[in-house]
Amino acid sequence: MKHIWLPFTQMKMAPAHLPLVSQAKKARLTLETGEEIIDAISSWWVITHGHCDPWIVKAIQKQSENLDQVLFANFTHAPAQTLIQELSDLLPSNLQRMFFSDDGSTSVEVALKMALQSQEQRGFSEKKRFLTFRHSYHGDTAGAMSVSGPSLFNKPYKPLLFSPLVAEQGHFSTEEPKNFYQDFERKLERHHKTLAAVIIEPFIQGAGGMIIWPEKALSHICRLTQEAGAYLIFDEVMTGFGRTGSLFAFQQLDVVPDILCLAKGLTGGFLPLALTVCGEEVYQSFLSDKKEKSLFHGHSFTGNPVACAAACGNLKKLKKHKQAIEKKWKAIEDLHKERGSRIQNHVQDVRWKGLVAAVEQKSSKGWSAPQAELWTKKALEKGVFLRPLGDVLYILPPYSITFKELHKVWDVIEELIF
Ligand SMILES: *Cc1c(COP(=O)(O)O)cnc(C)c1O
Repeated sequence: MKHIWLPFTQMKMAPAHLPLVSQAKKARLTLETGEEIIDAISSWWVITHGHCDPWIVKAIQKQSENLDQVLFANFTHAPAQTLIQELSDLLPSNLQRMFFSDDGSTSVEVALKMALQSQEQRGFSEKKRFLTFRHSYHGDTAGAMSVSGPSLFNKPYKPLLFSPLVAEQGHFSTEEPKNFYQDFERKLERHHKTLAAVIIEPFIQGAGGMIIWPEKALSHICRLTQEAGAYLIFDEVMTGFGRTGSLFAFQQLDVVPDILCLAKGLTGGFLPLALTVCGEEVYQSFLSDKKEKSLFHGHSFTGNPVACAAACGNLKKLKKHKQAIEKKWKAIEDLHKERGSRIQNHVQDVRWKGLVAAVEQKSSKGWSAPQAELWTKKALEKGVFLRPLGDVLYILPPYSITFKELHKVWDVIEELIF
């Protein structure tokens, strides 16, 4: 521990010893001591089916004996081809061009570069700005930080960042849709000529506190964006692969984004892998006899075969057990609704969408409140892993969580706040 620097952690306040996880299965982590913990947040929102899902384990085992890694600019391979084939069946006809990278942040970087360069190469060189929303989060690399809403997390790095337009929106699911788009409309009207793209986490702003968009406001914003000639980028890094109750959030809207970012759940959460998917208009704008019109991006591990195999395992399971999985999604949402409604009048706000539920209990200190760490500690003592976002306790479980386990998670949340 003396040598480890943990993510998003004030090391001076970090415990000297962390619990050692030795195994994980479905929704459970097993500690070295033998103690079992319910992973109520899918290990930072990545695990979809469950830990060590047999479909994915098998796919990885088989693949790693045959091909470990190869340079994707000169070669391709079966796992990448299968992955693209499987995913292309699940996506609309105008969302079929796929660019590989490694994680959510890089999928966003690629989306930003695609949007900017595509506008330029289509002859709209004045379209150079991005628009984002207050409380949004798109990752930790410089571009992704730039288009994230201003927060404690990107403040120290301001000199590194460019400045997008930031639209204000309402805070709670119960608010008037108009409050969510008024400021956006104003900014769009004033800046549409210079706007390259609008970036949105559809339906749920995750890291900003599990804020849920009213559907009407979200549809309205998407429609206006595309009418104004700006690209609509959907960052579905968290919402993708079932979290909002459908495979992708955009399927619940009457809209197809121009660019779609996928990562976390793409491999079922097993290995890092990301895709930035775009439509024909974006893709075609890069085709040219001139080399300088290429998309200049690529990471060492682009399209890693083992990670692709993991994603194939995930997609095959999703297809094979589609009905059972969708039934489980619905049942989890129903349970959230039942437990959430019960405490509605006793907390500041409780909201749910798909598999995600959030309970908000404001303290005056917000993000700097020591409460979040205290909640995590207390929940762990009761056998549940939670990691609140400031004042927001939330549940984002793997799909294989049992109803008994999910009830226990809600029980623990109630114990923490009452
Ligand atoms: C987690 C997340 C990211 C960043 O993904 P990493 O894999 O952590 O880089 C980007 N966008 C959204 C919406 C996320 O939830």
